[in-house]
Amino acid sequence: MERMTLVIDVAKCTGCRSCQVACKNWNQLKGEQTENRGSHENPPDLSANTWNRVVFVESRDANGKIDMTFISDRCRHCEDPPCLEIGQSVPGAVVQDDSGAVIFGKKTREMDFDDLTSNCPYDIPRKNEATGRISKCTMCNDRVSNGLQPACVKACPSGALQFGPRQEMLRFASGRIEALGGDANLYPGEEHNVLWVLPESSRKYPLAQAPTGWKNYRVA
Ligand code: SF4
Ligand code: SF4
Ligand code: SF4
Repeated sequence: MERMTLVIDVAKCTGCRSCQVACKNWNQLKGEQTENRGSHENPPDLSANTWNRVVFVESRDANGKIDMTFISDRCRHCEDPPCLEIGQSVPGAVVQDDSGAVIFGKKTREMDFDDLTSNCPYDIPRKNEATGRISKCTMCNDRVSNGLQPACVKACPSGALQFGPRQEMLRFASGRIEALGGDANLYPGEEHNVLWVLPESSRKYPLAQAPTGWKNYRVA
């Protein structure tokens, strides 16, 4: 199968959270008890049962008017994933398929969680304390390998989530950046198979930044 890429077009996201629900539904992930934290955003973090979370970012423009931005946060499916390298300690625990999807299997139960999570520049892996399994977004490899779109993409009503062959998606993202103009940019960079088209600098959003030279990012 050819390399596939998922693009998150932040300017088109309405914060409806259909993608968050569709991910739970397809992957049979439990709902979580949440509480009112003074925001409509919930749950407050990724977890073993939440692999895709819509982050609400509130800001004010120069006139004091409130502006909301919504960002679906999930695994970046790095092209050269540090988690895959550390995963070699338990063969089969972490694999990358032909589409570029990085998948955590049942054998992650045999891995040291701290080793795995500290090798992800984006703070993505989460452990199920009851089963010991470590999990995250699979880029819906079970659907994609059967010719289907990822569940979150299928559920998105606004066109904010796009999925397709890598080169096609890179062209799409580039076109959107040109159309948005200004500081619009690609996050976290082309060496990933999940990409965000951000209307403004990534520093304005609560998105993890990989350390400089992250390709060499490894736990000592
Ligand atoms: S974002 Fe983290 S968990 Fe996802 S592929 Fe990259 S290193 Fe692995
Ligand atoms: S690609 Fe699949 S596993 Fe990943 S966030 Fe979307 S629905 Fe969830
Ligand atoms: S389904 Fe689409 S529009 Fe709704 S929150 Fe997710 S990315 Fe945004």
